[in-house]
Amino acid sequence: MQYRIDPKTGARISALGLGCMRFPRTPLGTPDASAARAIISRAVELGVNYLDTAYLYPGNEACVGAALEELGLRERVLLATKLPHASCRAPEDFDRFFQTQLKRLRTDRIDYYLLHNITGFEQWERLRALGIEAWIARQKAAGRVGAIGFSYHGSADDFPRLLDAFAWDFCQIQYNYANETYQAGTAGLHAASERGLAVFVMEPLLGGRLADKLPDAARRVLDAAGSDRFATPAAWGLSWVWNHPGVTMLLSGMASPAMVEENAAVAEGALPGSMTPAELDAIAHVLAVFERSNRVPCTGCNYCMPCPKGVNIPGCFAAYNASYAHGWFTGISQYMTASAIRTGSPKLASACVSCGACARKCPQHIDIPARLVDARRRLTPGPIGAVLDALARR
Ligand code: SF4
Ligand code: SF4
Repeated sequence: MQYRIDPKTGARISALGLGCMRFPRTPLGTPDASAARAIISRAVELGVNYLDTAYLYPGNEACVGAALEELGLRERVLLATKLPHASCRAPEDFDRFFQTQLKRLRTDRIDYYLLHNITGFEQWERLRALGIEAWIARQKAAGRVGAIGFSYHGSADDFPRLLDAFAWDFCQIQYNYANETYQAGTAGLHAASERGLAVFVMEPLLGGRLADKLPDAARRVLDAAGSDRFATPAAWGLSWVWNHPGVTMLLSGMASPAMVEENAAVAEGALPGSMTPAELDAIAHVLAVFERSNRVPCTGCNYCMPCPKGVNIPGCFAAYNASYAHGWFTGISQYMTASAIRTGSPKLASACVSCGACARKCPQHIDIPARLVDARRRLTPGPIGAVLDALARR
């Protein structure tokens, strides 16, 4: 495993971090504790020393806390979690959430604490008015918080303003070869690293859309590039992120020990500035192909769920994109599965009543109700669609 030094704290952080949000789930929808233990155990064995969770990932903090305690690994990892700041209405809410998080994670300190999913500068101003700066100072002085940062899904313009608004230790941005000019983007990466912050990257593979879900035509571009170093689209995508010297660590939501092994092996050789011009050309070509099928920029994060009408929003968008990436019949097949059409209680995109509750929670700023209409039109056209839609609305 390669390690990179956090420029603010001096901590030695593995280039590959474990994003815990995508742990496998039990049939009841809770994180699978035994799978989580196996993933964490293998990751630490292979040198991963940074684990990321959040208050808002259902059941996830408790699962991570239990696994670390049972495996005896708490002191071998840097633990990160996030404040659900939108739910903080009064100064005492900061403590209330934080104490719950310490309890769930079975620890007395959070090494890297983030304000979760900042999407606009006004959110920071609201938190400042609630007294968050003094609260952060108290937690750091007491050793309960090591480093303070924020995860970001806002505009490129707001990002430098936010960087300059507080003495942050680190930030976490969405970054991959399809998002160079989206959200913080490359400009944001440079702005943060120039200010001496550690930069952690999330969504390096866009929720798998640059890995196993990459369009067939784009895969063929990578195959034709014939690289000895990169055996899979995931290896290409992760290496592209690590190629940037300003990146301190990237988080991968690894869902099995095998995935940990695969990514850790890629991390071994992914040094900053190590990609050749020919390899970077291949990525540029892949991106052009990818953009043609990237109809809805959904990463499958599930932040918008559950929908009160039962629509499987990320499932519908995955199927919609797949219908362009892998062919219409593949999209239809995925759509039928995602809509539970085979269960007799289908919830197609047409069950959406445009209440808008989901769109407010989407970090990708997708106009979900409008894009569900697009998905419905493509995936259930004509009279068959009308019948299915009628069934879904029952
Ligand atoms: S807008 Fe549609 S998909 Fe979104 S929560 Fe409301 S009903 Fe569900
Ligand atoms: S629609 Fe938005 S919130 Fe929902 S899964 Fe996709 S990216 Fe996440």
